[in-house]
Amino acid sequence: MAGKHEYSFFGAVEKSFENAARFTNWDPGILEQIKQCNSVYRMHFPVKIGDKVEVIKAYRVQHSHHKTPCKGGIRFSTAVNLDEVMALAALMTFKCAIVNVPFGGAKGGISIDPKKYSVYDLEKITRRYTAELIKKNFIGPGTDVPAPDYGTGEREMAWILDTYTSMRPGEIDAAGCVTGKPVTQGGVRGRREATGLGVFYGLREVCRMEDVMGKLGLQTGIEGKTVVVQGLGNVGYHAAKYFREGGAKVIALAEYEGAIMNANGLNEDEVFQHRKKTGSILNFPGATNITNSSEALELECDILIPAALENVINGENAPRVKAKIVGEAANGPLTPEADEVFAKKGVLVVPDMYLNAGGVTVSYFEWLKNLSHVRYGRMEKRFTENLNTHILGQIETLTGKQVANNERELIMHGPDEVDLVYSGLEETMITATREIMDQWKKTPEIPDMRSAAYVVAINKVATSYVELGIFP
Ligand code: GLU
Repeated sequence: MAGKHEYSFFGAVEKSFENAARFTNWDPGILEQIKQCNSVYRMHFPVKIGDKVEVIKAYRVQHSHHKTPCKGGIRFSTAVNLDEVMALAALMTFKCAIVNVPFGGAKGGISIDPKKYSVYDLEKITRRYTAELIKKNFIGPGTDVPAPDYGTGEREMAWILDTYTSMRPGEIDAAGCVTGKPVTQGGVRGRREATGLGVFYGLREVCRMEDVMGKLGLQTGIEGKTVVVQGLGNVGYHAAKYFREGGAKVIALAEYEGAIMNANGLNEDEVFQHRKKTGSILNFPGATNITNSSEALELECDILIPAALENVINGENAPRVKAKIVGEAANGPLTPEADEVFAKKGVLVVPDMYLNAGGVTVSYFEWLKNLSHVRYGRMEKRFTENLNTHILGQIETLTGKQVANNERELIMHGPDEVDLVYSGLEETMITATREIMDQWKKTPEIPDMRSAAYVVAINKVATSYVELGIFP
């Protein structure tokens, strides 16, 4: 079973980690501790599907306990295996560290194709998986907090919450046992679009940096940039949406059945509706079909955003990629070989473990909301509005002039939950981008932005271990 490929994705993460660790001065013991997965839970459990019993294989890996709880999504896919879950858990540790989200990294997975099961059966599988996690103390607001990932969403998170609360009655912070919940079940507004929006905020900040853009031969700013997005799931859809709204042109969208292209730009929602109606992204009015989907990755464009699965760009196809910037919205879309090709070609790879951290950042906000038992904005919205109204009134009296109606609304507006979540996310992504770029400038021998991001992450996790008093 554990053949050559079984450990390849985790091996790639280890390789990137080691490449970056060379640029730090930490004790080898600390580095080894950071690299390893702390706890690995592999389970098999029976679920009755129709009149047959199916044995379901599932995992939860806690990569690091330097901060608790551990945090990371749960994916439903036939590609799920131990190696993949370990790699994704490790990426979560580094991701949380970079964006200053005080969690250790974790990841879970169930090896099923969710499309092959009825909603009823999926609910049974999800609830049983949750029960297995509870049995071993692998879930809870203070221990390990799952979230959506590939193949899961709000519905599954609601099942997890319900299973948890019924097995742990009276636990006052139970809602914080999982994030990405529906808003009615303790979710936070803005979580659904958070990863895609974070990808946009991160890349927008990179595109604002004159020196970085100069080296790539690009103008600063998002406006007018050509973008290709692979994956029209939650992350890809929202990334495409914010780029389009920001003035970029999304010239191609790719899904597994094929890709479409239109040099004048595509509207992601129209494409999404077309796909829902016809069952395929192909034959979208006004667009050209690309039947071999992976060819979309090789189109001439400014920014390529792989927002689907890991290992889609490797040593074989990387030389043909023409994008100037690759923004990793998915987890692990590039292999280390692809990194080497891009570093040589001068393509800027903006790495997954910070670029797609918007999801976990807003999960953190959701968890805080659950622990505080109050909606963001509830306490200050009216106060701010009253104060702004008063200030505006004073300005108008003193100047004898009136502010235009649309401006008036903007100035008086007190923050709603979604305003605070978006601004918290924007601040987080901007700060993280600058921190990584500063690290890279400080240590110019670092070969790429991924290694610079790892260095930032390693420094934070290592500092935390030292402060815990575990290492000298
Ligand atoms: N699955 C997402 C990720 O890979 C979100 C994790 C979370 O919110 O905990 O970052």
